[in-house]
Amino acid sequence: MKVLKFGGTSVGSAENIKTLLRLVGEEKQKNSPVVVLSAMSGVTNLLTDMAEMAERGEDYDAHLKEIEAKHFAVIRSLLPAAAQNPVFTRLKIFFNELEDLLQAVANLRELSLQTKDQILSYGERCSTFMISHIASQNFGDALYVNGSDLIKTDSNFGQAKVDTELTEMLINNFYQENKGKVLFVTGFIASNAAGRVTTLGRGGSDYTAAVWGAALNAEEIEIWTDVNGMMTADPRIVKKAFSLPELSYTEAMELSYFGAKVIYPPTMIPAFMKKIPIVIKNTFEPDFAGTCIKSDVKASSLPIKGISSIDHISIINLTGSGMVGKAGFSGRLFSLLSREQINVVLITQSSSEHSITFAVKPTDASQAISLIKKEFELELDAKKLELPEVENNLAVLAIVGENMKRTPGMSGRLFSALGRNGINVRAIAQGSSEYNISVIISKDDLSKAVNAVHDAFFTDLKRTLNVFCLGTGNIGKTLFNQLKEQMPFLAANNDLQVKVTGISNTRKMIFNTDGLSLENWEAELNTNGEQADLAGFVAKMKALNLPNCVFVDNTAAESPIEFYQGIFESSISVVTCNKKGNSADFAQYKSFKDTARKFGVDFYYETNVGAGLPIIRTLRELMMSGDKVARIEAILSGTISYIFNNFKGDAGFYETVKEAQELGYTEPDPRDDLNGKDFMRKMLILARDAGYPLEASDVKIDNILPEACLNATSVEDFYSELQANAAYFENLKNTAANDGKVLRYIGKLENGNVEISLQMVDDSHPFYMLSGSDNIISFTTDRYKTRPLVVKGPGAGAEVTAAGVFADIINVGTLNK
Ligand code: ADP
Ligand code: ASP
Ligand code: MG
Repeated sequence: MKVLKFGGTSVGSAENIKTLLRLVGEEKQKNSPVVVLSAMSGVTNLLTDMAEMAERGEDYDAHLKEIEAKHFAVIRSLLPAAAQNPVFTRLKIFFNELEDLLQAVANLRELSLQTKDQILSYGERCSTFMISHIASQNFGDALYVNGSDLIKTDSNFGQAKVDTELTEMLINNFYQENKGKVLFVTGFIASNAAGRVTTLGRGGSDYTAAVWGAALNAEEIEIWTDVNGMMTADPRIVKKAFSLPELSYTEAMELSYFGAKVIYPPTMIPAFMKKIPIVIKNTFEPDFAGTCIKSDVKASSLPIKGISSIDHISIINLTGSGMVGKAGFSGRLFSLLSREQINVVLITQSSSEHSITFAVKPTDASQAISLIKKEFELELDAKKLELPEVENNLAVLAIVGENMKRTPGMSGRLFSALGRNGINVRAIAQGSSEYNISVIISKDDLSKAVNAVHDAFFTDLKRTLNVFCLGTGNIGKTLFNQLKEQMPFLAANNDLQVKVTGISNTRKMIFNTDGLSLENWEAELNTNGEQADLAGFVAKMKALNLPNCVFVDNTAAESPIEFYQGIFESSISVVTCNKKGNSADFAQYKSFKDTARKFGVDFYYETNVGAGLPIIRTLRELMMSGDKVARIEAILSGTISYIFNNFKGDAGFYETVKEAQELGYTEPDPRDDLNGKDFMRKMLILARDAGYPLEASDVKIDNILPEACLNATSVEDFYSELQANAAYFENLKNTAANDGKVLRYIGKLENGNVEISLQMVDDSHPFYMLSGSDNIISFTTDRYKTRPLVVKGPGAGAEVTAAGVFADIINVGTLNK
């Protein structure tokens, strides 16, 4: 025989009740089950609100109407007209009684826990009475059972403790007397010795099912709910949470104790005592196996089973060198709290033993403080104990699993996931069973923390990067295309999901925490985007507080730079092709690096130098592996490279520059390339990365252009000056050619000095053979002494730059897994 319990959603509408009856009908074919029911979804909350409103003297009529309507709609829809009356009549009697009770509360302006339990009991009584009558239309032998008469408890109203022996006897007798019938039993409610209604705690219908299951030695207790069993995390918080096929009683207990409300923690006790499996199933997907909670669970490869959380917690800190930690102190403290029914969620004690921190529900915090002040009055007066302190707005996150006991490094993984996401841990507790580690964090960080920790432990799942992109020019656009193409590969081969969560250009910005579509982001940005506002974009990115965030700056503008520092401080990585940040003051460059390191995030800017070519990365790896850079020589301007590679033979300088511009290789004003400024920025960044604290003014730039060309007032004038100075350029070209050399504009770092100058090189030089707009860089180091390490290739263009940005984003996602 099985006990089947259906929760609030499963009895919450006519449609769902039909499904429930089908499931019960199928089970009945095998063996008549005991069916335990909750109140219709939302009803217990409405009853609680009404009771409290009555106490305050407020009008609760609308709530009452809502509850009535909810039930009556079901009756009308599922019962034939002829069968409706008796059910309407009985429910109306229930509602009248309820109204009388509420009126009494309103008159007295007083709501005792006892009265509250009486009021709440109507939720289960109405739903169960109604459904049992609908059921008897389908199968004649359905019986309504007011379970409160059969489960006997103490008088701890609101959270009563079951008298197991008496209860089991009563249930057994009742069951024997009604053998063969399908019993529809009210969940949640019980009664004390005097026959007054008690309740088993919120969510307690699960517990009712377990009590019945244990009393009758059921073969299985099935908890039918609205999700696919117990999942690795609350599916409302973690979209990627998945269902766990098996759990031990202890694991299920710990997960539910720390907030997985899919099953009420005490439920596991009666089932565990009698070794009865509990199966959590989904009413809306009945064929899915769900979760089986039992004692002989198979070894699992999962490092942990799940992550639970409680989103409202207060902590109380007690310190005092003369008191805390002394034998008997904790005993006195915690027996005091338990005597007064204050549930202590977790306790941590510092190793110095001069402080104890414990967590309670916020509603219990002030009572706990006054109890402590009273109990320890003498010690407080004598200054052996400091005044207790409360901290509010906190949350608990717990990782749970029996494998933790055997696996080292679990807490390391937990704390690095939290640390990397900038989540401050206020207190830590590890259960002595080692089945759980719990941490207390700020409530605002909870969703981010649960997602980040989920990503860190369930590495089989895709790790998600939340990317916020600034700039939708050539590079931005190309990046989105590349991302779109590559996403399936990354998901399949690197377990990486890249979500573009925010996009902004100078006109519009848009966000979507599920990830913006890369198919039609442009149309969406233009039609649904809000007015762009850089500060607002950054603020929103921070406020969303998502895990594994990357801010991508695909602009060449000054304005984003001032935000980098604050972005790092919010534990968000930065990927940028924008050179402006790294090439301004050295102090700023250093501060970016230091802050990123301090907050455990990445700062990648490979495309600052040579677009997608692996230059910054190569230098970093050389330095990290202990090599010493003696000299760097480079041609890092695609434009200048193109011009000097083609300024040979009969070609004139003017014609070559003009051609470069026509091919789109230059800035609108070619002087922006030819003045060497952009080249200077790249050399400066390289020098800084090589360990030299240089400023822009330390870089010596040798002018390629005669003064007159530089000073020309327009681009046209500039071109005329180039023609006018043709002889100057011809002379340079011929001098080089006569010596068997070519002209190259080369940046050089040596002994901490950076120089950019026009040089003539012969065919022994690695830069002699260079074509198109290629960049080239050679590193002469201790290890690459006689033949330098050379990186060469296209160093400009949207496709290769976007690819470099892409690679940096991936590195944020994979290097630090
Ligand atoms: P019922 O009314 O059926 O008793 P509850 O609302 O009490 O259902 O519990 C089911 C809900 O528990 C789910 O809808 C889900 O949002 C929440 N929940 C929290 N943590 C978990 C978890 N780890 N696994 C599954 N569900 C969870
Ligand atoms: N109806 C009760 C509650 O909402 C009991 C339950 O649903 O398990 O807490
Ligand atoms: Mg529940």
